[in-house]
Amino acid sequence: METKTIILFVTAALNLTLSLIVYSRGGKNPITRSYAAAVLSVAAWAFGHGMFTLENNPSSLFWFYFTYVAGAFIATFFFQFARIFPNPIVSPLPFLPAKVLSIGFPVLVSAGLFLPNILIQSLTQLGHQRQVVFIKSSYLFYTIGFSLLMGLGFLHLLTRYRESSGRQRMQIRYVVAGTGIAAVFGSYFNLWLPWMGDTSLMWLGPHFSLFMIGFISYAIIKHRLMDIRLILSRTIVYSLLLVSTLVLYTMLILLAQRFFQDKTGYMTSLVIGSLLIALGFEPLKKLFQRATEKIFFRGELDPQRLLGELSETFSMVKDLDSLLKSIAQQLYDAFRTDHAILAVLTESEELSVGTDREGAVQPIPFYRNHPLIQYYASISPMHYLKMPTKREILLQEELIETAQPTASLDEGTRTNLLSAMKDLHIANAVPIFTKDQLSGLILLGHKRSGDSFFLADLKLLEIIARQAGVAIENARLYKTLQQQMEELKGSQTQQLIQSAKLASIGELATNVAHEINNPLTSILGFTTLMLDDMEDHHPHKKDLKIIQSEAMRSRDIVRNLLDFARKRGIKKELIDINQLIQKTLNLLRHQAEISNIVLKEEYAPDLPTLIVDGDQMKQVFINLLKNAFDAMPKGGTLTVTTLAHNFDGSSTQTGLGEDEPLFSRKMIEIRFQDTGEGIDKEHIPKIFDPFFTTKEGMGTGLGLAVSYGIIERHGGRIEVFSEAGAGATFVIKLPVKEEAVLHH
Ligand code: ADP
Repeated sequence: METKTIILFVTAALNLTLSLIVYSRGGKNPITRSYAAAVLSVAAWAFGHGMFTLENNPSSLFWFYFTYVAGAFIATFFFQFARIFPNPIVSPLPFLPAKVLSIGFPVLVSAGLFLPNILIQSLTQLGHQRQVVFIKSSYLFYTIGFSLLMGLGFLHLLTRYRESSGRQRMQIRYVVAGTGIAAVFGSYFNLWLPWMGDTSLMWLGPHFSLFMIGFISYAIIKHRLMDIRLILSRTIVYSLLLVSTLVLYTMLILLAQRFFQDKTGYMTSLVIGSLLIALGFEPLKKLFQRATEKIFFRGELDPQRLLGELSETFSMVKDLDSLLKSIAQQLYDAFRTDHAILAVLTESEELSVGTDREGAVQPIPFYRNHPLIQYYASISPMHYLKMPTKREILLQEELIETAQPTASLDEGTRTNLLSAMKDLHIANAVPIFTKDQLSGLILLGHKRSGDSFFLADLKLLEIIARQAGVAIENARLYKTLQQQMEELKGSQTQQLIQSAKLASIGELATNVAHEINNPLTSILGFTTLMLDDMEDHHPHKKDLKIIQSEAMRSRDIVRNLLDFARKRGIKKELIDINQLIQKTLNLLRHQAEISNIVLKEEYAPDLPTLIVDGDQMKQVFINLLKNAFDAMPKGGTLTVTTLAHNFDGSSTQTGLGEDEPLFSRKMIEIRFQDTGEGIDKEHIPKIFDPFFTTKEGMGTGLGLAVSYGIIERHGGRIEVFSEAGAGATFVIKLPVKEEAVLHH
């Protein structure tokens, strides 16, 4: 096969790809449909030329005529498209002659497929070249029909261009530029040049459609052309670009060959050509990699850098007000918008700041019953998870163009939101959710460049909103804890000092959570970004997925820690402690077996039911059991005992003083006794402190601290008796509330 035949087929394939993408993404939209049809016709046109240039093809006359039929359909579908683009609703009906022409022309030309002699007088082979002689009158008819339809199409587009603004204007510009280049050169090589008698360069025509493909794909990705939401990966874009360029490149070389052929001979020119391709390939590849990065994916904004800078802010700035201010500032700088607003409005908080046109930040008023807040408060993030096509982000542009409703909004809500956004001069609204609840909004003004927000921008904003949610939550927690510490400082009783310990656990936990959460969110954010860009069969995809899921797991752990610090309320459930211990032990029986640990269970039969938080209590048991297991690496015996104490106030049986009225009536006791390595004397006072651990690298030092907090919140006590080398016994004492006994 000749090189030019091959590159014609490649061009046909590229057009076919574009057509399929547009068609599959566009749904029932008449704009995308007519456009896809036009591009499909271009593919047919290129394919026809490929078949025609095939050597010794007996049906070359058919294929030659076929290219003209395809051309007629290009003109018709392009006209159809141009008539309704970019908004079918405001398009006037075409006047009758144009309508007749747009239907009649391709029909007539197709009819000629059965009698190609209508257009072509003769087709002769002269050495390597084929010489075609047209019948002048039919050719004139064709040329006029084609040019009229194309011309009317462009006229339509240009009129629309003048009336339009913003994103639409940008879209029309790309459509006109792309199709314009293809149309001008295509008709030059396929209509005008043959008209003047030279048909030897007709194979060049279809390649100019590559410009169209380029412009249109660019506009689809960056300006959501024809409302197509398409996120192509870097690699795809870059390989498509590379293929297109190679086609154009080869085309040029073939052309050069034609001129040098006489002087240097066919072989020499072939060698020069291949050499040029070989030499050009590497630099070309690099050039394209860089160009794709720059044109399609980075532009002015470097998402990696922005995320990096933001997560630094998130971990450094703990004061809510300063946090909001720096986020607003950073978004203003990065997205180059004319302003940026950050609002936090929850039941307990009300804070909003915004930048002005110079980027200076100040508080701005924002109200609880603002339509945007009400809109987002009414939907939960789950809503979006179920419908992945729906974005959380509201775009002003999309609210204006409701030819294709983007969110399932009723008309009232739509106009309401639109005017709210216009009042604030914002282009988009990004909700910040923490734990399924709306906690704030990121509102960005229009880009100073006049560009729209690209799909990549929106994805980035979603990630930022998620990170900001965590940071805001942390900042708020930090504030609450500070307040709690202040309150504690004022009082002096024994009880409160105990609680202060708890609060310090809380504070420390929050600090740690804070430090860990931010890098975690970055890890998750970047991993998600990378996964998005990665093809399915990429060798690193699996690893990245593991990173993602492990990071999510860690995030859950941290979240639990934060929950703990927040002094979560206690669920009040009637719990049979014996049963709960058995259930917990069931989780660990297998592990005990393989670790050579014998479990002894001694349950008091008359144990009263308690009102406790079952889950939290279970967590305490697990912590103690795990510690006992850790202390017996070579095996041993673990005895779990429950006891009911029924004494009346004055008893000192348990070694508890009279200043502890909680235990004055009824209580139960749970013992975990192991035969492990025991605890050093000097460690005993510290083991309940947060982050105290002797298990270097393996322990967090939080198990006992957390357990202590839980038992304390239940009004109980946890104590330890141990000697180094002689095992350890942990004793939990919990008060029995009277009503529970009655219940029992
Ligand atoms: P971690 O288990 O992560 O170290 P914990 O707060 O649960 O954190 O325990 C703190 C420390 O208390 C442990 O590192 C260990 O030195 C000591 N410890 C706890 N339980 C036992 C036990 N049953 N036997 C011996 N030492 C224990």
